Parts: sequence; structure tokens; C-alpha cells
Amino acid sequence: MSQTLLTVSYLLASVFFILSLGGLSTQETARRGNLYGVVGILVALIATAFSPMVTDFTLLIPTIVVGAVIGAILAARVAMTAMPELVAILHSFVGLAATIVGIVNFMQAPHGAGLAGDHGAMTLIHDVEIFIGVFIGAITFSGSIIAFGKLRGSISGNPLLLPARHWLNLVMVLLSIWLGVLFAQSASTGVDPFVAGALPGLVPLLAMTLIALIIGVHMVMAIGGADMPVVVSMLNSYSGWAAAAAGFMLSNDLLIVTGALVGSSGAILSYIMCKAMNRGFISVIMGGFGTTSAKPAGSAATAQAPAGEVISVDAAEVADMLKSARSVIFVPGYGMAVAQAQHPIREITDILRKSGVNVRFAIHPVAGRLPGHMNVLLAEASVPYDIVLEMDEINEDFSGTDAVVIVGANDVVNPAAQTDESSPIYGMPVLEVWKAKTCVVLKRGMASGYAGVDNPLFYNSNSRMLFGDAKKSIDSVLMALKSAVAS
Ligand code: NDP
Repeated sequence: MSQTLLTVSYLLASVFFILSLGGLSTQETARRGNLYGVVGILVALIATAFSPMVTDFTLLIPTIVVGAVIGAILAARVAMTAMPELVAILHSFVGLAATIVGIVNFMQAPHGAGLAGDHGAMTLIHDVEIFIGVFIGAITFSGSIIAFGKLRGSISGNPLLLPARHWLNLVMVLLSIWLGVLFAQSASTGVDPFVAGALPGLVPLLAMTLIALIIGVHMVMAIGGADMPVVVSMLNSYSGWAAAAAGFMLSNDLLIVTGALVGSSGAILSYIMCKAMNRGFISVIMGGFGTTSAKPAGSAATAQAPAGEVISVDAAEVADMLKSARSVIFVPGYGMAVAQAQHPIREITDILRKSGVNVRFAIHPVAGRLPGHMNVLLAEASVPYDIVLEMDEINEDFSGTDAVVIVGANDVVNPAAQTDESSPIYGMPVLEVWKAKTCVVLKRGMASGYAGVDNPLFYNSNSRMLFGDAKKSIDSVLMALKSAVAS
């Protein structure tokens, strides 16, 4: 493939990636956006494989086949609730790739061999590209592994708050900068500052890699349960910048463009998530928010000491309540995803709407375990998009609503976020469900949500608890509603 054709193909792939991002911004166009992304990556892969840079297919083809098969099996098998873990581990691959590419790139062409002028500006620029690429890559790699463990529940969701942790971070960053200076200086001295006889600059580069790995671990370990959404999208952004840095090292324009797209869209998403959580971006990065009693996702539910009496109801009572309501709002949460209760909820919605009830869905930006998690599940169950509203669009309507049905949501409807200054989720905007005439909460027991904090909502006089797996409870409500409507 000629250089011109390669450039045109890369341009084409970039256009597909931009169209993909555009498509993914609304539910109606998300499928198309996904398809654009697939086409873009196919164009990129084929163009790269047939570019003049690739001279030997014996290693490339088996590697692509093995990677594609593993990816396809994992993607086909993954449960929707395990999606965040998969995303986190995929970010770690990007970080690892950037780190390896940086180190190998340096070893193959130490200090700008082949660039114009061994000690010139080009060498310095190339050194900086390598150093920054490896730094971001290593942080992304180790940070994503910890995020994977936390989301999976194999690492505690509690924030690890080391004494003087901010100083520790600062010292590690300063050390990395110092190593960067030594790394760049070794280009002109021609000797490694630490190990005589080693490739000049290799030891500072490897030492910085180790420090960056520790920074990644420390940064994510310090994040508490409720702030994990921000961290996941932040690591998404880092993985983009790491890829862009690898693009600079390899002089690959497409990798630079794609990395910048992922990096900037991830940064925007992190900003949106921070706004949704009412958290300062910098303070989340520095760690320490969240709770000291957080329960990681996927771990066994932790029962908390009840802070009052709750009123239990059965499915028939809920069906009666819904039938006689004029307006109903469903609030889905992580428990709906676990139970896969979205399909019978859609059926209930259809029945109620047919009898003239105004049914809507309220979506909190961090409900579930993945940005857009609830929207995906509701779309899968064919809930009409126009009745699925974001928090800002619907929060004022709860006070005029007859019945709110909370399906496996907890943190996102916790009034303590507004009233209890000592709560770790204080300040996070929540859905003001308690303002409705009646709130029905569907959950299995009295366990806390991801942030690990008790929810005073359950003890309100207008709250009713329907205990049990959300799918079974919703199925029973559906049956009761069908017979109530038929009679
Ligand atoms: P929560 O994690 O706060 O609460 C979920 C509730 O669902 C639990 O209290 C649990 O109670 C209940 N539940 C679990 N399984 C079932 C089931 N099978 N049937 C019925 N109920 C069930 O969820 P929310 O959606 O309210 O909040 C999301 C939380 O996750 C926030 O803290 C957010 O910060 C965090 N997070 C969000 C991410 C994102 O990007 N959206 C990413 C990472 C974390 P019980 O066990 O008693 O049934």
C-alpha cells in the first residue's frame, strides 16, 4: 500500500471514529455509532497491516487472530453487570501497550538514533514523548488493574488513606521529573547516570516506570466506593492519552488522533461525572473521597443495623397502588441490572400507560456501575426513549407524583446526601424520591448500596419496602396488575 493510500485510509478511519463518538451521544443513534467505530477500526487495522512499515506477517497474523478470539469470547460472555470490570481491564491493556511500546522504542533507537542530530531538539522531543508516554501508560496500567479489582469486589472498596498521602504523591511526581531530567541528560553524556555500561538513560526510564506503577496503585486505592465512576472514566481518558503518546513515539498519525479522541472524550465524561457527583475533579484524583465503610460491588451484601422501623408491603398492594395512581416514576438502579428486571418493568409500563397513567423513568447519572448503564438496559427492553428522563429533567416532578418505584437503587436516592454533612456522599445530587406521595423500594434486604452508607429513605412514613429479588418482585407485581386490570 502506498504512503498516500495509507494516509487516506487513516483519515477515513479518523472520520469514522468521530462519527462513532457523535453517534454514541444519544440512545437513538448509539447502535449506528457503534457500527461506525467497528468500520473505523477495521479500516485502521487493514491499512496498518498492509502499510510499508509491516514487512513480516508471521508474527502479526497469529497475534491478531489470538487477540480477536480472546476479545470475542470475553465480550460474548460478559454479563452486563460485569461490564465496568471489562472496561477497566481493557484500559489496563492500553496502558501496558503504551509502556511496552515506549520502552522497546527507546531500546531500539536509544536517544534518537535515526533522528536528525543526535543531540538536537528532535532527540529531546523524542525523549520527552517516550518518557511521558511510559509515565501515563504505567499509571493507567496499574490504576486500571486496581479499579478492576475494586469493581469486581476482590479488592476492598474502602479508600486506602495513607498518612501524608498527598505528600507521597508529590514526592513520587517530583522524583519522576528528576529521573526525566537525568534520562534526557544521558543523551549528551552518553552514559547511564546509575549503571555504568547500561544503555544510557535506560535505568532512569525503568525507575520512573516503577514509580508510575506505584502512583497508579496509590491513586486508585485512595478512592472510595461512591467516586469509582469518576475514576473509571478518568482511566479511560488516561488510556487515550497513553495511546496518543504511543502514536507520537511510533510516528503514527492515526494513533495520535484516536488517542486524542479517547483522551478528550474521557476527560469530558470525567468532568460530567464530577459535576453529577458534585465533586471537585482534582480532589477525586488526589483520592480520599468515598466512605470508610464502603462495600465493593459484587461482594456479599452487608446488612446494616436498622436505623428505624420499615413498612413492608406485598406485590398485590403495590399493583393496587400503581393501578390507582395517575403518575408513576420508576427509578432503576444497580439491583435492576443484577436481577435483569427491565423486561417485566416494560410490561408494567405498557399496561399502566394503556390505562392512562403517566409513567416515566428517572435516571441518575451514576446509577448502576457504568455511565449510561440504566439507559442501555431500558433500551434493551424497548422502553420508549421519550419517557426516560435524566435527573435534571425530572427531579422537580417527584413532589407531584403519586407513586415512585425504586428498583434496586440505593445511593442515588439517599436523602442523607442532602441532609447529613457527615455522610461520605454528602453533596452528591440525588433523585428526590421522598417528595412523592408514596415510594416503594424493591430490594432483597436492608443492605447498603455501593457507597456502603445507610439510607434513611427506607424509614420514612411514606416509604414501603417490597423485599425480594427485583425480577421476582416485579414479576409478581405484573401478575397482580394483570389480574387487577382484567377484573
Ligand atoms: P447501589 O449500589 O447504591 O444499590 C444497589 C441496591 O440494589 C443495593 O442496595 C442492593 O440491596 C440492591 N440489589 C442488589 N441486587 C438486587 C437484586 N437482585 N434484587 C433487588 N435488589 C438488589 O446502586 P445505585 O444504582 O443506587 O448507585 C450506584 C452506586 O454505584 C453509586 O454509589 C455509584 O457511585 C457507584 N458506581 C457507579 C458507577 C457508574 O458509572 N454508574 C461505577 C462504579 C460505581 P440488597 O442487597 O438489599 O438487595
